[in-house]
Amino acid sequence: MIAEKMIPFVQNNSAIRTMFEEGNRLKKKYGADKVFDFSLGNPSVPAPDCVREAIIDLVNSEDPTVLHGYMNNAGFEDVREVIAQSLNRRFGTSFSAKNLIMTVGAASGLNVILKTILNPGEEVIVFAPYFLEYGAYVKNYDGRLVEISPDTDTFQPNLQELKEKITANTRAVIVNTPHNPTGVVYSEETIRELAAVLEAKQREYGNVIYLISDEPYRELAYDGVKVPYLTKYYKNTVVGYSYSKSLSLPGERIGYLVIPDELEDSGTVIAAAGIANRILGSVNAPSLMQKVIARCVDAEVDVAAYDRNRLDLYNGLMECGFQCIKPQGAFYLFVKSPIPDEKAFCEAGKKYNILMVPGSSFACPGYVRLAYCVSHETILHSLPEFRKLAAEYGLSAK
Ligand code: PLP
Repeated sequence: MIAEKMIPFVQNNSAIRTMFEEGNRLKKKYGADKVFDFSLGNPSVPAPDCVREAIIDLVNSEDPTVLHGYMNNAGFEDVREVIAQSLNRRFGTSFSAKNLIMTVGAASGLNVILKTILNPGEEVIVFAPYFLEYGAYVKNYDGRLVEISPDTDTFQPNLQELKEKITANTRAVIVNTPHNPTGVVYSEETIRELAAVLEAKQREYGNVIYLISDEPYRELAYDGVKVPYLTKYYKNTVVGYSYSKSLSLPGERIGYLVIPDELEDSGTVIAAAGIANRILGSVNAPSLMQKVIARCVDAEVDVAAYDRNRLDLYNGLMECGFQCIKPQGAFYLFVKSPIPDEKAFCEAGKKYNILMVPGSSFACPGYVRLAYCVSHETILHSLPEFRKLAAEYGLSAK
């Protein structure tokens, strides 16, 4: 017998599993190269060489009792200092080791900070479309998720609705830029306006409202677009970062939280977050990976490979007559379904072995997400199939 709170998660999980199994079934039947699986955000670009070299060297040269040992719950101090200095160089911030807590990826970082700040019944605001796991994370601490409806013209956050939905009970707002599932990067102007709304509401209610910046895609930005560093715009910002996509290490589970000194009560929040890391059961982030990150702190994956996929898929879909905002970050396209029922559209795609995720999985029906972190051949070979799919809906090729 399982806990009642788990029942909806188990039911929902079966939908995701069904999609995954469907992909495997089609690959077995037609061959992996004949299936265009755009469903998973699993990086297709390998981790940079320095990751492998660092692992080998660390294992051969470091004292194993340190390398594989327990440590401070926040992580190795030298590793946190190296990352803090890298952030300072890149963004003109002034962090030090004490502002960082190493986490088991972004997912764990979000759980740590929500456990740290959230009382039961308090509200966390998210902008649709959003990574649906946020809802589960907020429920973990008996918080209440409040959704802001999408601005489908720009997919920038709808700040007018934000103003209306912040209450005395609002504890945090989560943003994610570059964004899953739209690939949009929030502009500096948007960030400034968002900060102004939060400042005004903090004053109105006399409460702290945290801005949680979920940033697993920070390094995946194209066309030279600038991804603003949010702690510089709003002092009650906590950054959640991950190396899952930026170094293609999703299975290694490594990331960090930044809790700046400027954040209200920062010393207490930092101490509590370290404890949350421990009592949530992670204890600390994986030790070997922490040391690897310190050695690869300024390394990058081949972002140009994603960029090529982005442009070829985007241009190819536009030529078929589909509508989609041109993404400037992450590795997703969020395409308008030619019919209101986007789940039916996803089903139709399967006839051509095209696998897409319905927008309702991101609280934004009427759209589908394509993860273009696939091989370039998959992109090129999928385009004639997309053309056939488009023709079914009478879309006119351009
Ligand atoms: N946040 C967003 C927006 C994501 O897309 C993902 C993963 O896809 C995560 C968080 C979780 O990332 P991690 O693998 O670092 O836990």
